[in-house]
Amino acid sequence: MIEIEPMGNMPVIKDLIVDMDAVHWKKIQQITPWLLPVEPAPEREYIVDRESMVDVTQTMACIQCGACVSDCLAMEVDPLFVGPAAMAKSYRFVGDPRDDKHEARLNHLAQDPHGLYDCTHCFKCVEACPKGVNPMGQIMRLRRIATGDFHIKDDNNGERHEQAFASLVKENGLLWEAELLPRSYGGNSWWGKFAPAAGKELLSSLPVILKSVMRGKVGIGGALKPHKIPAQDLKQVQAIYETVEGRDERYELNLYIAGEDEPRPRPPPSAARIARRHHEGRLLARLCEPRLHPRAARLDGQGCAAARHRARRTGPRCCTGAGVIAEHNQELADTLNARTFALAQQVDGAEMMMNICSTCQGAQSEAQERLDANAEYRAHVNETLSAEGLEYMQGCTNKNFLWLLVEEIGLDALSSKVKRPLTNLRVGPFYGCYIVRPTDRLGIDEEHRATTTCSR
Ligand code: SF4
Ligand code: SF4
Repeated sequence: MIEIEPMGNMPVIKDLIVDMDAVHWKKIQQITPWLLPVEPAPEREYIVDRESMVDVTQTMACIQCGACVSDCLAMEVDPLFVGPAAMAKSYRFVGDPRDDKHEARLNHLAQDPHGLYDCTHCFKCVEACPKGVNPMGQIMRLRRIATGDFHIKDDNNGERHEQAFASLVKENGLLWEAELLPRSYGGNSWWGKFAPAAGKELLSSLPVILKSVMRGKVGIGGALKPHKIPAQDLKQVQAIYETVEGRDERYELNLYIAGEDEPRPRPPPSAARIARRHHEGRLLARLCEPRLHPRAARLDGQGCAAARHRARRTGPRCCTGAGVIAEHNQELADTLNARTFALAQQVDGAEMMMNICSTCQGAQSEAQERLDANAEYRAHVNETLSAEGLEYMQGCTNKNFLWLLVEEIGLDALSSKVKRPLTNLRVGPFYGCYIVRPTDRLGIDEEHRATTTCSR
């Protein structure tokens, strides 16, 4: 069935006609969409190296159709959000060496409470764009340049959050959630919690924290002490940090420019086929039992390998970075995730990795997309991993737990087990953006339309 409706996030004038001036074009105007050239102007033309111009061609491909604006989830919540098209347009000038106002442009976007840090990294604009502009990718590049090159400290805690996240993972191998909030608001050190801004946030979060403790979702000890990976793993994770962050320049892969020099292996359309072949269904059925849920929850972010006859927990390897480490340093996030993939690939007979967390799934999918598509990049990342004797090989299948439930057990089988159906309960289920996006990376096909599955 084809549904035709007016574009989203824009006022409807009549029928299918929306007022693009009021939203889309207004936002484009906000970012000064013209070149502010370096002065003094040369006598003849500006000489620009080829690579820099190729770099901005991706954003130049934008046809201003507004499809990304129409689909943007952050804009639904905050109509003042600058939005994906305008932000991609901004990179067109921030990436252009002839423009003289890179820092001013970035500072403006970073300080705007509806700007650079309002994007929730949901992939919607990436999927909507008919021209492969990858607005979300451009936003992440803007963030990397703002913090990594210009060290812009914004009033929206974007830079502090990124620094706090990356350093907590470096210190512990995993994220220490209780420490993230105070450091994001109060400054990236243990003393951050004593800053007035952090105190205010901690106080406003107190009801949620207390409720979580009382309902057994968080133990006091677990919240106050960092979760750590084993010392040997932590040493390797820290060595990766040293190598990647010690480079003179950040190494980034833009697939639009570098191209895919190898066909990407598509994830199997249905993991159920593998499961049936190897009788794994029984195991996954057991994972559905409530008593085993806590065990599954502990896999958060670290993934486990589903081996031929039973799923094996490979143990915590390190945080996936949840997209935040990638916006700090793309190569760092990709190398940490490649290490986890490589370790899973070493599990004897393993055919896929299972991830329990939606956000980790998204972060790993993104890393894997780059690693699988470009052999040169993969070799570069593997060079860092070789210090530990590891190598990531293209094509590790990585699925989220919920998809394994849907594909291997099936919605009908799950429904038949329901003892107390929640009929007439009006809920807005949150399964996480990354459970269903990016669809091509996840191998979600028509047979398993995400929306249908989620609504059921
Ligand atoms: S990633 Fe999501 S929130 Fe961010 S700009 Fe794109 S659609 Fe909007
Ligand atoms: S969807 Fe793509 S082409 Fe259309 S406005 Fe957004 S970035 Fe430009």
